[in-house]
Amino acid sequence: MNAGALLETLRGEVGTAYVLTEGDLCAWELDWRKRYRGRALAVVRPGSTAEVAAVVRACAAQGTAVVPQGGNTGLVGGGVPDASGTQVLLSLARLNRVRAIDAANLTMTVEAGCVLHSVQHAAAARGLLFALSLAAEGSCTIGGNLATNAGGTQVLRYGTARELCLGLEVVTPAGDIWEGLAGLRKDNTGYDLRDLYIGSEGTLGVITAATLKLHPQPAARGTALAACASLEDCVALLGLAQARLSAGLTAFEVMNALSLALVARHFPALAQPLGASPWTVLLEQSDAESPAHARALLEGLLAAALEGGKITNAVVAESLQQSHQLWHLRESIPLAQGQEGPNIKHDIALPVSRIAGFVAHTDAVLVRRFPGVRLVDFGHLGDGNLHYNVQAPVGVDAASFLGEYEAAVNALVYDAVQAHGGSISAEHGIGALKRDELTRRKSPVALSLMRAIKQALDPQGLMNPGRLL
Ligand code: FAD
Repeated sequence: MNAGALLETLRGEVGTAYVLTEGDLCAWELDWRKRYRGRALAVVRPGSTAEVAAVVRACAAQGTAVVPQGGNTGLVGGGVPDASGTQVLLSLARLNRVRAIDAANLTMTVEAGCVLHSVQHAAAARGLLFALSLAAEGSCTIGGNLATNAGGTQVLRYGTARELCLGLEVVTPAGDIWEGLAGLRKDNTGYDLRDLYIGSEGTLGVITAATLKLHPQPAARGTALAACASLEDCVALLGLAQARLSAGLTAFEVMNALSLALVARHFPALAQPLGASPWTVLLEQSDAESPAHARALLEGLLAAALEGGKITNAVVAESLQQSHQLWHLRESIPLAQGQEGPNIKHDIALPVSRIAGFVAHTDAVLVRRFPGVRLVDFGHLGDGNLHYNVQAPVGVDAASFLGEYEAAVNALVYDAVQAHGGSISAEHGIGALKRDELTRRKSPVALSLMRAIKQALDPQGLMNPGRLL
């Protein structure tokens, strides 16, 4: 490979200012959790789909690997280059235009580098809702959301990124442009290429734009916090909420006592209105006619839950500001955990009916095997998605705990996930972190189908190599 010649070609295609090879490239080369630090041949920042295609074509001609990157908020080490210094880091950040909003069709077409928050705002400015929402929304991009099939806090009602996407524009590994931006809700014309690219984590091509599904803005939202004595009670409350609120139930999040204790330690200014309890539920309903109606619906639900002994205490937000404060508590958990020190994250999915059994079993085994270990459990119970995270015992150096025990902890947790009919990745993807685990846990037939797809679409193996497969 002639790296110098490739860099010259890339400068010619996107402009010298957008091919970075010197200085501090940490923002692109180091992942959010600071677990993966790579070195890129260059950070290339094209400004249009045509430029992305030209970059990918030039790299393909030289046999150079390409690592697509959006907001670099991924949690599985999938969006940073390896340490070889030979891979081109392709940042989509400059592709950040909202191309169109079709209010009658309830769709919007945006470029891949648009930050999720700005997409939500653009929809809201037209009185519409783009319903993907996650704590990283101020930095993550639509391209990254689709490449990882992101979930977040409103999946219960609106589905994952996959369900919120109607069409894609993609640059293939050969540098061709597939224009699939149809805003159609029905289209049975053969294999679904859109669904193939969603969740492919940059291994099959580069997403450059997407047509997204919008919804009417809810007239009002209600938010509540409830304390539960056990995870079984949280599951019972979920059933009650689904029965009473039906599709109006937008979010149902759980947090164990340690999750909120870490928030209290690292963000003491955040009020915790219910104090400590074994489990706390954050729930939201959004089908009410007015804020007062939303509060009344939640109060009715919580009164019934209190009477049935499913909750021990509850508070309903009185204003939008209070609602934001309650959400802020939930969204601060990953940050508080990060500040507490390195930890072992498990983003897992289970049938809702089996979650309490899984947690009881796995907690007991972990505590027996690693005395003092701290279990930080929170997540999207309504979707059967738990962030089941393991923090070193108090006073034990986190880095050495991870170095010594991470593999054993993972094996134990993922064995239990498998035994309970679950998945080792609910919403964060596979990346570099879980690649070997995927190989161990996925069926040989599924793996060989996945490898056949990769080979057919990317025969040179240049798109984000070593990730996912
Ligand atoms: P990046 O991190 O840049 O990349 C992620 C992957 O997508 C990489 O494999 C990369 O190669 C690929 N990729 C990026 N852009 C493209 C593109 N245009 N074309 C092809 N491939 C591409 N995730 C959830 O699902 N739910 C949550 O609730 C959630 N909460 C989070 C909270 C915090 C505080 C943080 C830091 C992260 C959270 N995440 C969550 C994870 C992360 O935000 C998501 O995975 C997000 O979708 C990644 O978007 P990004 O633009 O940052 O992608």
